[in-house]
Amino acid sequence: MAQFMSKVALVTGGASGIGRATVLAFAQHGAKVVVADMDEAGGNETVALARAANTDALFVRTDVSQAAQVQALIAAAVEQFGRIDFALNNAGIAGNQALLADYPEESWDRVIDINLKGVWLCMKYELQQMLKQGGGVIVNTSSTAGQSGSRGVAAYVASKHGVVGLTKAAALEYARKNIRVNAILPGTIHTPLIDTFTGGDDRIMQQFVEAEPIGRLGRPEEAANAVIWLCSDGASFVTGATLAVDGGRLA
Ligand code: NAD
Repeated sequence: MAQFMSKVALVTGGASGIGRATVLAFAQHGAKVVVADMDEAGGNETVALARAANTDALFVRTDVSQAAQVQALIAAAVEQFGRIDFALNNAGIAGNQALLADYPEESWDRVIDINLKGVWLCMKYELQQMLKQGGGVIVNTSSTAGQSGSRGVAAYVASKHGVVGLTKAAALEYARKNIRVNAILPGTIHTPLIDTFTGGDDRIMQQFVEAEPIGRLGRPEEAANAVIWLCSDGASFVTGATLAVDGGRLA
């Protein structure tokens, strides 16, 4: 079980949902964990859960859209644990829902800043550290919306397509540096983010369920399992890949 003993894993958006589930999965596999999020209460709660699973854990309050904060996050992680073996760049927001011609510019900027620029900034400073230490694995959280369109969330769709592009570009640039870079494409996973899409409307939730060929929403742990595998030696020849964790939706 302890396949990641003495490894260090960093997860952005680790205060909730897929991020928290992945932090706990890393902890269960023996890794030390660094939780980054804007949500201090949720981040500290994740750290407490990780420590309860008997691992060292650190919370660093971070807005991933701010370069100085991301740089400080990486520095804090290295100061505390000496290295970063795995990074899940996962912090993201849904943004407003509106047709493209009516989409508010402010929401566009926020979604792109967090979901796309935030992933680039995290990769930039993680890669600098991974190059120094001689390797590492990066996983970015894209979405099925990184491969197919969806009405009413153009900024989100564009940001998640962008994450796939960043993943492929980085995979090629660092393939000979012992650094693998992949993306997961979750389908609808039951997290607080989904509640912002449905607005608590049961009919919309039912539509989400029906859109999943498997006939149910995914669990955060199911997305986390894919991240764990991508970070493991079992995925040693996998880089630049997009792994759908979507109950068959993209099929
Ligand atoms: P969530 O809302 O439960 O978690 C997202 C976390 O990101 C929150 O803790 C939030 O505080 C944090 N965050 C938001 N903005 C931030 C910022 N600027 N800096 C640092 N942290 C920030 O949502 P989730 O469903 O777990 O989503 C995680 C990722 O998975 C997102 O990138 C999302 O787009 C993606 N995703 C989710 C689904 C799904 O169905 N839940 C599907 C596909 C992709």
